[in-house]
Amino acid sequence: MILQAQREEIAIFGKKMLTENLVKGTGGNISICSREDGLMAISPSGKDYLTITAEDVVVTDLDGNIVEGNLKPSSEHKMHAIFYKKRDDVHSVVHTHSTHAATLSCMRMDLPPIYYLQIIAGMEPIRCSKYALTGSQQLAEYAYEAMGNQNGALLANHGVITAGVNLKIAYYMAEQIEFASELYLKAGADISRVTPLNEAEAQEMYDVFTKVFYGGIH
Ligand SMILES: [Zn+2]
Repeated sequence: MILQAQREEIAIFGKKMLTENLVKGTGGNISICSREDGLMAISPSGKDYLTITAEDVVVTDLDGNIVEGNLKPSSEHKMHAIFYKKRDDVHSVVHTHSTHAATLSCMRMDLPPIYYLQIIAGMEPIRCSKYALTGSQQLAEYAYEAMGNQNGALLANHGVITAGVNLKIAYYMAEQIEFASELYLKAGADISRVTPLNEAEAQEMYDVFTKVFYGGIH
């Protein structure tokens, strides 16, 4: 099996991505580029991450032609390949659909540099791309343009893409962008709209808990 180590790593990180809630279902995708032979290993299209094995990970050239693998490569493979073609510093690409970052992307908002660990993906705002259809060459170009010389971008009405020197770092960036997006949205919440329970309501509830859990000893 060619690119065995890379394919194993992709299978492991696919499970992480699902269980750590950066994607839902079969959304998102991961790749690693092997520059010596101009190939990339990429997660397969439409297969449950929990069942993906190293054999299921597809090896393609940078034009999307399958070199080894029984399944179809992720439909978003063009968006991975463009970074390998155009940037020598990128060896792995991670694309997620994480909730808070995707929320910003639905508002076509950039994520300003608000959280210290997101700086790993760039000092400037993490920019939101223009909208294009998933899997299209247009989306690949918009993603590339939005990322600029940074390492992360939001994809309009869709999710996140990060590009790193290796898979661990690209994945870490996707996690930090998601967390920073969550902070940004929560920091912007209108807490003046929250109505607390009044003293009598709180007392009433406290008495219920006291009776139920402490047998009236409180
Ligand atoms: Zn996607």
